[in-house]
Amino acid sequence: MSANPITGQGTSPEAWQASRRLAEVASVQAQALVPNRSRAVIVSPHPDDEVLGCGGLLQALAREGRHILLVSVTDGEASHPDSRWWTPQRLRATRRQECAQALTRLGVPHERMTWLHGGFPDTAVARHEQALTNVLLDCLRPGDTVFTTWRHDGHCDHEAVGRASAAATRQIGARLLEVPIWAWHWASAQDPRIPWRRARKVLMDEAALARKRHAVQAFVSQTEPDPASGNPPVLTPRTLERLLHDFEVVFL
Ligand SMILES: [Zn+2]
Repeated sequence: MSANPITGQGTSPEAWQASRRLAEVASVQAQALVPNRSRAVIVSPHPDDEVLGCGGLLQALAREGRHILLVSVTDGEASHPDSRWWTPQRLRATRRQECAQALTRLGVPHERMTWLHGGFPDTAVARHEQALTNVLLDCLRPGDTVFTTWRHDGHCDHEAVGRASAAATRQIGARLLEVPIWAWHWASAQDPRIPWRRARKVLMDEAALARKRHAVQAFVSQTEPDPASGNPPVLTPRTLERLLHDFEVVFL
């Protein structure tokens, strides 16, 4: 994306509910996406993307007793650039803790998860794309199933992480599945820029969606107004409503 498309209110949750294109997307079981012989890897640009994009999938894999490798590319320290309260240092520590709490709420046992922290600079991953590709080449194995943010998601880090994951999985012989996050904001409900033919839904039942909602609320730094300035949260109720469908979408 050349311009920043994440401005204004974005497409309404109601518009997505009425989207024929979205309604027509076929569903797939989490177990079919990640066959037994394959390890699931989540490459997440910021702490919260793994839950927003894959919170249902993570629950399904955890129920099956599967091992998960989570790569947190940044610590999300740039979410509040002008805040006196949410300094980069405080965000770094807090967002890791929030993420750990969210994973617990999803029922992902810590002993069945390997968690790598990339420590790449939030909002500047694109400047370190080759270094990130190298990190991924070190930790991926042939046959892994890798979930990451879509290469055209509209946020510079999401796109850089998508590209680096694509390069690494191609070189190592792993499978890549891309997940839209900010596209729900900027895309229109029938948007031709969305790769609808590659899209599949991973369905969640009511209990799984409730657990995902609860997990997202662990990210207090993102869901509550800034205590110093009173500025609205990064993840407003409207943004969350748009993201919390009873399914998750992946692009094959
Ligand atoms: Zn993000």
